[in-house]
Amino acid sequence: MDLFEYQARELFEEHGIVTPRAEVAESAKEAREIARGLGGRVVVKAQVKTGGRGKAGGVKLAADPAAAEITARQILGMDIKGHTVGKVMLAQPVDIDSEFYVSYVLDRAAGAFLAIASAEGGMEIEEVAASRPEAVARIHIDPAEGVTSARASEIAEAAGLPQQSVDVLVRLWQVLVGEDALLVEVNPLVRTAQGQILALDGKVTLDDNARFRQERWGAESAAHGDPLEAAAAAKGLNYVKLDGEVGIIGNGAGLVMSTLDVVAGCGARPANFLDIGGGASAQTMADGLSVILSDPAVKSVFVNVFGGITACDAVAEGIVRALDTVRLTKPLVVRLDGNNAARGRAILDEHRHPLVHQATTMDGAARRAAQLATAA
Ligand code: GDP
Ligand code: MN
Repeated sequence: MDLFEYQARELFEEHGIVTPRAEVAESAKEAREIARGLGGRVVVKAQVKTGGRGKAGGVKLAADPAAAEITARQILGMDIKGHTVGKVMLAQPVDIDSEFYVSYVLDRAAGAFLAIASAEGGMEIEEVAASRPEAVARIHIDPAEGVTSARASEIAEAAGLPQQSVDVLVRLWQVLVGEDALLVEVNPLVRTAQGQILALDGKVTLDDNARFRQERWGAESAAHGDPLEAAAAAKGLNYVKLDGEVGIIGNGAGLVMSTLDVVAGCGARPANFLDIGGGASAQTMADGLSVILSDPAVKSVFVNVFGGITACDAVAEGIVRALDTVRLTKPLVVRLDGNNAARGRAILDEHRHPLVHQATTMDGAARRAAQLATAA
């Protein structure tokens, strides 16, 4: 889960990294009031979870509160790389002497973190790395050891950052570890004309596996603003929205992934990924069905279950009870296989719901779901 800049700066402040004074506004009028409180002259910054806001016209200086209102009105609602601006941050302008780049990112292949730093900050680091690779220092960090003062000095020296930045490098590591982040990036980290080191921008990506410890950021943050994903996240479902018309429910991530492939192989497009896990209770089935059925793009639903520890008869009972609470509006194709498959199929047969179809193989079920989706 990515955080907004204003959330990242909150974490930086909590860990003793200095950032410019700033506040968030959702309307132009509010922006004017905030600018007044910050002393008049402000930088107006679009809050979207993507970089390159400056280049896109999403970061602008305003000379006074009236100008801040006009600028905020221009930036709010703007589209930056497919992200609509819903909030702006107003920040006290800083007198920049030099701009640096620093980040820590998980390097899965190396089984370690990677510190990336450069004295050429402000612009996109990929461009610096492409044109002048020697200007970008890359140092692996042993996660058990972390960034000590000694290691931070080494990073600063390799990148040509001033000695004063060593303290920030250590604190930034504490943000990464303390907040369950997989990435922290500051671009630019600046030295002001007065010699102070400040984080002028911030990007933080949290580890979704630690979401239960990160409830303060809410489901809205986790779901990138997609309402279906937000609804699913609120119900604790492992759901990802896709572009197609066949809704998918399966037990186990591997099975769901192959279900997506098989549906695509039948010429239809999956509408989502939804893994209801091993338990597959009636409640989870009902929650999953209601999220999928509320997607207007969905034309049919394919429930693909391989009974293991949770036997197929329990899953079939779950489906039957889910149909008591969720009104089925689209055809549902169910394929039950594995532990107690025959008993599970008998339960669904007895229930005789006009929109529920059964199939015995995964391929057959996928073809049926694809047909029903194109026929609809
Ligand atoms: P990004 O384009 O999405 O990375 O947004 P940034 O927050 O990094 O802002 C883009 C650029 O605007 C920075 O690299 C700075 O050069 C400039 N900038 C942002 N805030 C200030 C400020 O307070 N004072 C000055 N002089 N420049 C700023
Ligand atoms: Mn930046």
